[in-house]
Order: sequence, then C-alpha cells, then structure tokens
Amino acid sequence: MKHTKSEALFSRARKLLPGGVNSPVRAFKAVGGHPVFIDRAEGAYLFDVDGNRYIDYVCSWGPLILGHAHPAVVDAIARGAARGTSYGAPSPLEVELAELVLDFFPNLDMVRMVNSGTEATMSALRLARAHTGRDLIAKFEGCYHGHVDSLLVKGGSGMLTLGIPSSPGVPANVTGLTLTLPFNDEDALKTLFRKEGDNLAAIILEPVIGNSGVILPAPGFLELLRALCTKHGVVLIFDEVMTGFRVARGGAQERYGIKPDLTTFGKVIGGGLPVGAYGGKRSIMKRVAPSGDVYQAGTLSGNPLAMAAGIATLKTLQKSRRLFDTLERHTTQLAAGLVGQAEGAGFAATANHVGSMFTLFFTDRPVNSPADVATIDPRVYGRFHRAMLERGVYLPPSQFEAAFLSTAHSKNVIEETLDAAGDALEAIAKKHR
Ligand code: PLP
Repeated sequence: MKHTKSEALFSRARKLLPGGVNSPVRAFKAVGGHPVFIDRAEGAYLFDVDGNRYIDYVCSWGPLILGHAHPAVVDAIARGAARGTSYGAPSPLEVELAELVLDFFPNLDMVRMVNSGTEATMSALRLARAHTGRDLIAKFEGCYHGHVDSLLVKGGSGMLTLGIPSSPGVPANVTGLTLTLPFNDEDALKTLFRKEGDNLAAIILEPVIGNSGVILPAPGFLELLRALCTKHGVVLIFDEVMTGFRVARGGAQERYGIKPDLTTFGKVIGGGLPVGAYGGKRSIMKRVAPSGDVYQAGTLSGNPLAMAAGIATLKTLQKSRRLFDTLERHTTQLAAGLVGQAEGAGFAATANHVGSMFTLFFTDRPVNSPADVATIDPRVYGRFHRAMLERGVYLPPSQFEAAFLSTAHSKNVIEETLDAAGDALEAIAKKHR
C-alpha cells in the first residue's frame, strides 16, 4: 500500500499543527507509523489521499453510528446549509433534537445543547456544584471526560490524596478538588463515601469505560454507586458521551437500569457534527441560566446544521428497535472472530464488548479495570494495528481505545475484516517468533 501523499501531508502538517494533528491520538504515537490523511468516507469505509480504502472501526471515535455520509444525514446538512449556517437565535431544530434525546432517555426532563463532550462534562460539574453547594468532586481512574482542567487528573499514591494534574498547565489547586478512585472497586467506593460523602458535589464516570479500552461495570457496582450518591446527596453524573446510543438505545442507564442525576452526551447526538449536551431532572436543570443562576452559554450552541445532523441520525435510529440488536450481534461476531483468529495464530487474546463498541486486548486474563489494561504489552496491539492498516482495516490507533461499528458494517464487511485479521496475525506471528 502506498502512503506517499499522506506522508507528504504529515510533513507539512507537522510544521503547522502541534504534532501534525488537531487531536493527539490521531498522530498514531501509541501504535507507531504515520497517520493516513483522509480524502473522503462512505458507509463503512474511509478513503485516503493515496486512494487506499479502509474498513473503518473508529467511526470518528463513535459519532457515526449510521456509517459515513449516510444519505439522511447528508441530505439534512445540505438542505440545512441552504437555509443559513447559524442564527444566534432559537430555531425549531433545537426543540426537535431535545425532544428526540428525551425520547431515548426518559429519565431526563431537560437538556442543554453545547458543542462538545468536554463542554458537556465541564458544565454538568458546574451545575452539580451549584446544586449541592459543595466543591469536591470524584472521578474514576481510567475514565476520560474530555480535557476539562479539573478532570485531567491522575490519582495520588493513596486513594484520598489530592488529585495531581496529569497535564502541565492545570493548577494543582484545581485538581486538588478532584478525588480519584479505582473503577469496579466497591471497597474504595465505600471508603470514599465514608470519608467524604457529605462533602462531595458530584461523582462522574463512564458507566461502561471506553477510554481505557472497553471495560464493563462489575455486577452491583453501579447500583452501589447510585445508593451511596442518594444517601449522601451527591449528584451522580453518567458521562454517556460514548455509551449513549451505543451500549443500548437509551445508553448505559437503560442497559443497567440505573437513573443518574445528570447525563452528558456528545458524539452520536451530533451525527458527526460538533454537538454535546447535558441533561437531567427539571429540579436540577432549572438552575441553568437563564431560568436559573448557573451561567453557561455558547455562540454556536444549538447550531442549526449540527441539530439537523443529530435529528436525522436519531430519527433513523428511532425507526427500528432491531437496529440495535443487529449492531450488537455484528459486534459480538466480530469480537469473537478476532479472538479466534488471534488464538489461532498463537496469541493470547480476549475481547470486551457491549452494544456496538469493543476492544481486543492481547492478554489471556480478563480485563475488568484500567489497572488490568496497564499490565498488557501495547507493542502487540501496535503491530496488529499496522498490519491491519496495510490490509485495509482502520482500527483505533491505541490499545486503550474502543472500536465502534456502524449500521454500514454488514456481515460481509465483518467477514472481510476477519480474513484480514487472520492474515495480519499470521504475518506478525511469523515475524516476531
Ligand atoms: N466523555 C467521554 C466519555 C468521551 O469519550 C469524550 C471524548 O472522547 C469526551 C467526554 C469529550 O468529548 P469531546 O471530545 O467531544 O470534547
């Protein structure tokens, strides 16, 4: 496969954009090699500037649940653009998308549209702090909630030490209000609430982790979390930016039967355009300005093109309940098939999957926490990634990320992927043994 044009573009880009990209993981640093530059995309496929075709399991990091350039979404954007690209005033589209989101997520009474997942989590935290009159927040190790200062935190050496900034530029006294604890650890959770429960404004989590690779909640873990939050008056925030419309029609809250106090969204609700949202019960949401005193605003929030793309996506999803079953069946087949191919080539492998997201981990042990992921040698995944790219399959360029399927990933596409995987794994096994 030739990558001449991509390589030339990457050299140019590196002079102009830090690391040559506008979001770090795109630079392929975790897997080695150079990124390919995309010219266009359609259905399950990406086409790069050198004319190579790839089956895409990144799907823009989750939003494209209907695949690339779905006709309903393209049509909505094209027709919308002709009516003007931004009004800075209310439009019926905002009402329609809000109604659709609430239809999928009946636990919510109100939502506020923003422009990204980061904005959604940042705003939800502000609201939770105002609602409770408390400053302290808690998050789980290995969960990512966007690049919000107070959430760019790595745990200290003990569970209840002050959070340490995980990026220069984040003041220690900002992260000092963020406690971190291990995911799926009931004892740590009980200790946190015993010591700090009455001081906590909010606890935020990915109810299924996607940002350490896919990690499922242990049975009873979310239930315990819900009960402790209720007992101590702590706002429970489900960050469903990734899991919303992915792990079930109504996200993790539907799948696991838990009602969070606030929910954050992104990705799918924008149909590939920049949208985020946060929502919850009216009693909390009415504090948001202008109905309340918690300030939050956005020049492009509720943007008509973004709303139109989101509406077209959610309406298409709404048409068929079977669609989610099919997505999950295909994901299960692919995950099982990849493990089979890996084992057939002599690799230890396990796959975590739920709904239309999965991660293939090269390990023989179950992966139930980000700490388990940290024990895996990422070089094997790096080799697999490069070998798959050469065979026309675009996987997430990091072992610590979820892969996504879309409705365009048909049975044939999955079979083609498994054939490529078998070939790639044999080639890696030969070279590295
Ligand atoms: N929350 C979760 C769970 C995410 O996966 C992400 C992004 O990947 C975000 C928040 C941040 O969203 P955005 O990149 O749109 O700011």
